[in-house]
Order: sequence, then structure tokens, then C-alpha cells
Amino acid sequence: MAADADSTLQHADELRLSDKDRARELLNSLDPASLSGEQRVYYQYIDTVINLFNGDVKRAAERYKQLLGAVTDNALRVRIEASYLNLLAALGKWKEGLSLGEELFSRIAKTQDTETKLRAYLGLIAFYDQLNQPETVLILTSKVVDKENVPPEVMCGALAARISAFNKLDDYSYSFEEINTASQYCLENNLSIYYVTLEMHKVNWLTNQGNYTEAIPFLENLINNPDVQAFKPHFTSAMALLAAANFTLGRVNEAKTIALRVLEVDPNNNYTGSVIKALSVLHQVERDHGDMANAYRYLERLTSLQKKTSSSELTKQLAIQQAWFEIDAKQNEIELLDKRNALLSTQAKLANESLENTLLALALVSLLLASLVFWSYRSHKIQVQLKHYARTDMMTEINNRGYFTECLTHCLQQAHKAKTPLSLILLDLDHFKSINDNFGHQAGDWALKEVASRIKHSAGKDAIVGRLGGEEFGVVLPGCDSRSGVAVAEQCRMAINGIDTMQAGYGFSITVSAGVSCTTEAGYSHNSLYTAADLVLYQSKQYGRNRVYEYSSATSG
Ligand code: GH3
Ligand code: MG
Ligand code: MG
Repeated sequence: MAADADSTLQHADELRLSDKDRARELLNSLDPASLSGEQRVYYQYIDTVINLFNGDVKRAAERYKQLLGAVTDNALRVRIEASYLNLLAALGKWKEGLSLGEELFSRIAKTQDTETKLRAYLGLIAFYDQLNQPETVLILTSKVVDKENVPPEVMCGALAARISAFNKLDDYSYSFEEINTASQYCLENNLSIYYVTLEMHKVNWLTNQGNYTEAIPFLENLINNPDVQAFKPHFTSAMALLAAANFTLGRVNEAKTIALRVLEVDPNNNYTGSVIKALSVLHQVERDHGDMANAYRYLERLTSLQKKTSSSELTKQLAIQQAWFEIDAKQNEIELLDKRNALLSTQAKLANESLENTLLALALVSLLLASLVFWSYRSHKIQVQLKHYARTDMMTEINNRGYFTECLTHCLQQAHKAKTPLSLILLDLDHFKSINDNFGHQAGDWALKEVASRIKHSAGKDAIVGRLGGEEFGVVLPGCDSRSGVAVAEQCRMAINGIDTMQAGYGFSITVSAGVSCTTEAGYSHNSLYTAADLVLYQSKQYGRNRVYEYSSATSG
């Protein structure tokens, strides 16, 4: 019976990803009461993995935690830890995840069994993938993909994560064929979850090459594939990409229909990235149709979702940095303890010796004090640095979108309380894509830095300036009414127009379009103020670019 149970469990384990119904049947054929302790843990582990298909992540995480308290077999422990690690990431528990990750990593060195090692790597790979640390993912996947006898699910997981890491690093140098081979391999092994992920990477590859004509039929096939429909994150993402691709090619009606389907399939905004993309398509479609009321509605939903995502992204970045900081601090603490021990033993030796040695002891004590002071100074410095990194756009050295948004909210609250006006300027560089296309990305980057510095200079010291995305900037002007808001925007526009690109060895001109909104017209709600500025920015673009428009509630629908 015990041996039978072993092989049934193993069989269920093999089938858990490719044929979960059969795996479930196998589990049901066993009587948990007749299993040994270790077999029961194994049984519960498979049971939890299969139940996860129903999506109850929190419950699964609790069960993994319990199982970790009961498991004795090392190989099984590594697998449970790897699965648990990924749930921690899905639940946004980054700190707990990082410390479990450290533990799992240290287990790799202690483990003899190759398969166990590979599974531990896969757990770490999936975790760092979710954590958006592509460099780490590439190091980890290199430990898996070249090995022999790698179980197919580990291989597929690593291949998919590797391509996703390259994408995150904007490296599209691998060939389409490479993704195709990986995708076919996963399909042959019935690992549809990885197959679908890799198919999505094919689409990314095509759209990145600007090849929308090929991407569209590909996406149409994908969204009709039942395997894809079964994975909602991929399904919504494929539809959103299809909507955007259709819009780019001017197929406005198709774009609208599919974008609306995204909202229908995911009414609760679970897959935020896809919903944001769909809303942005709908906003543009309505805008082009001249239906400003609907355009406004979509844009409002879009900005409020973007705000939510940027704050959760910021939480994630802060948790990562905090965890790194703590690891660093722990290291310092250990060094400090070592020094203190050394000092104590020196003191013990000195106790019997002459007076002059006391001076040496004093010197040592002051050394210890000095290092204490240095250490606390360093931790403070690190913390200040961390804060700076979390808030700053590294290329232009001005505030990033997350922090800019936070400041705008804060300033609006203050202004509301004090009943003072506040103006918001949104700026978007004109035809920036053609600067990149004609003079290269480096010239584009140079221009962005120059623009940021001109805006900062023109906006004055009380203004808050941020980079909101690629070539979009924002300025918050506390205390400024509409007229002075427009004046500042005009100054920014002229300063940018005056940039001499010959200094950098190029000869092109840079212009910007701007939209200004003020609380006196748009009210103190973050969304209305933002949407109003965006709306008039769009008018500046429509009416010829290189100009400033101001929002007025009387003239907008
Ligand atoms: P429009 O006048 O309508 O705004 O035209 P545009 O070309 O500026 O508009 P679009 O938004 O289509 O293009 C923005 C381009 O900005 C696309 C992208 O190549 C470029 N871009 C975004 N971020 C960066 C960056 O960090 N560096 C560089 N060099 N280019 C960037
Ligand atoms: Mg833009
Ligand atoms: Mg632009």
C-alpha cells in the first residue's frame, strides 16, 4: 500500500500542470489516513498546487507555510519553499519573499540532488522575475538552460523567464525562431501555461519590430485559442495588444470593439496593465471622433488607475531597497560585533600588564566608538540615498512620476485647506519620435536631459517638476492662478525652443506643446485637474503644436 501510494503520488505530481483533472482523480483515489507523515505532506503539497488553479492565493500561502513546518524530506522542502516564494511575490510580500529567497539560495549549495537544485533555481527565477530584477533572472536562468536532463517544466519556466528578462532590458537581439523553438517545446510537453507565455513574447517581439501587420493575425489566433482564454492575464493582455495594434494601423472600429471587450472580461481591473492599455485606446478613439465627453470619461478612469499602479510600484521598489539596506546593515552589525569581541579579548590580555598598555586600550575603545559613529552616519546616508533613488528619475535627475503624483496630491490638499489656487502644467515634446529616428536614441536622451533642466529653471524654485513618462513632463505651481500658470508654461515653451542642439553636435529644433489647468476652473480633485490639463494639451497638439492652451470650464464639454 505504501509503495503504491508513492507511485500514485508521483504520477499525480507529474500530471499536476499538464492534466490537473487526472491528477485530482489520482489524489482522490488515495485515503489520506493511510499515508505516512511524509506522504501526507507530499499529498497536501500536490493538492494545494492543483487548488491554486482556482486562484485562492492567500489560502494556498497559508497551507504552504503549514507544510514547511511539517516537511522532513529536503527535496520536498525545496519545492514547497519555491512555490511559497512565488505566492509571496503574488501577494506583494516582498520583504518576506526576499528573506525566504536567501534561504532557498543557501539550500542550493547544500543540496546534492541535481533536480532539487534546478527546482530551487526555478523558484528563485520566478520570484526575481516578478520582482522586476532582470539581471538577476539572467544569472539564475543561465544555471538551468544549458544543463542536461532538466525536467520540462523547469526548462520551460526558465526559458520563458529568460526571454521576459531580455524584454525588460529592452534587448530584442534574440531571434523570433528562438522563442518559437521554446514555445513548441512547451507545447509538446503539454505545459500550456508556459506555451501561452512564450506565444505572448512572440507578439511582443513582432510589435517591437513595428511589425503590426504580422502581429494582428497572430493575436487574433491567440485570443481564439482555448488555452489562452483559460489564462485570463494572458487573454486580456493579448486583447489589449490587439486593440492597440489595430489603432496604430488606423483600424479604429476594430480597436474600439476589442478594447471594450477587455473592460468586459475584466470588470474589476485585476489585470491593470491591460485595462490601462484598453482605456488609452478608447480615450484616443473618442478623442479622434471629437466625442470629448466620452474621451474625458475614459481618461479619468485611466489616470486614476495609473495613479494606483505607480503607488504600488513604488511600494515594491521601497521594499526591495529596504530589504537590501537591512542585509547591508546586518553585515555591518556582524563586522561591528567582531570588532567588539576583538577588543574584549585584547582588554583581558592587557589587564595584567603595565599602565602604558592602558593607553593602548583607550585608543582601541575610541576606535570602536569612531566606528560606531561612522556606522550610524553611514546608515543615515544610505537611507537618504534610498529615498532619493525612489523619488528620482535617474536620467533627467528630476522627480519621477510616482513622487510627482504624491507631491501633487499633497499640494492640492494644502491648497484646498488654505483656499489658494494651484496650477498644473503638462508638457509633451513634439514629434519626439522623429528626433530618435533621425538622430538616434542618444541624441533623444540628451534632448530629454536638456529639456528637464530648462523646465526646472523656467518653473522657478517653488515649483515641483517631474518626468511623467517618456517625453512627458509635469509642473505643479502652488499658489499660482491660471494667468501665471500660462506665463510659466510659455516660459518653458520658449526655453525649450531655444535649446541649441549644435552644442551636442546636432542640428535639430526641439518644441513642446503644453496644457495648463488651474484649481479655479477644474476644482481641487486630482483627477479633474489632471484630466483638464491633458485635454488642453491635446488641443495644443491638434492646433499645430509648439503652443500653450489653458483649460476653461466654459469652453470644454
Ligand atoms: P507628438 O508630437 O504627437 O507628441 O509626437 P511624438 O513623436 O512625440 O509622440 P509619441 O508619443 O508617439 O512618441 C514619443 C516617443 O518618445 C516614443 C519614444 O521613442 C520616445 N521616447 C520615450 N522615452 C524615451 C527615452 O527615455 N529616451 C529616448 N531617446 N526616447 C524616448
Ligand atoms: Mg507623448
Ligand atoms: Mg510627444
